[in-house]
Amino acid sequence: MVKDLTQEIVSYRLREEILQKQENIKKKMKTEIHQLSLGACNCYLIKEDGLILIDGGSPNQGKRFLKELRSLSLEPKDISLLILTHGHWDHFGSANEIKELSGCKLAINQHEKDWVEQALKPLPPGTTLWGKILGTMLKISMPFVKLPKTSVDLVLEDNEFPLEPYGIRGNVLYTPGHSSGSMSVLLDTGEAFVGDLAMSGFPKLIGKGMPIFAEDVQAVKASWHLILNRGARWIYPAHGSPFKADVLKNQL
Ligand SMILES: [Zn+2]
Repeated sequence: MVKDLTQEIVSYRLREEILQKQENIKKKMKTEIHQLSLGACNCYLIKEDGLILIDGGSPNQGKRFLKELRSLSLEPKDISLLILTHGHWDHFGSANEIKELSGCKLAINQHEKDWVEQALKPLPPGTTLWGKILGTMLKISMPFVKLPKTSVDLVLEDNEFPLEPYGIRGNVLYTPGHSSGSMSVLLDTGEAFVGDLAMSGFPKLIGKGMPIFAEDVQAVKASWHLILNRGARWIYPAHGSPFKADVLKNQL
């Protein structure tokens, strides 16, 4: 009888332990994705075991960044890495402020390091008539946009960069086309944060897919192939709302 009772207690404890372990695994597996609208650009916070930010928004968005973080009950200092999908003005305009506020490291592809560090303002050609018109308008207004020079901490090469050391299950992939150093963050769960490799909202006026500006349209499509082959299921663009990756598949 005593033996039976002891066995029961042991199996109860074992069951409790297993349940606790399962709960811990579940907690660890949780992925939070938060969109921050910092000016003209959607930036994305990814929280798993670590916290990273994708893109740094238009200039002068520091206050907005803090406000949005507070509303999520997140601390700027918990961000370990800010990844720029590319070095255009609307993606790194507030990167300097964000670095100062959070103490995070800044990563960009090797081809566009100078754009950020020297605050350059390259504009890719339009892929549509509207893109060409808007490009001309931007060329006129660009000299009036003040961009801070921002130091880069991590210069990524064109090979894959794992995010596991930053507590995120995913990789940074080299996905040129919109610009020569464009990169995407692909989570193991299939969410792809593509910067301007695809658009689904302003400045794109109609539809989802091809960005209205691109240095190389064929390279854009090759990069779509890459992220699809690597398991992208959802596309999170810097301009517009997230959409299913099948949309890109149908345009190849
Ligand atoms: Zn861009």
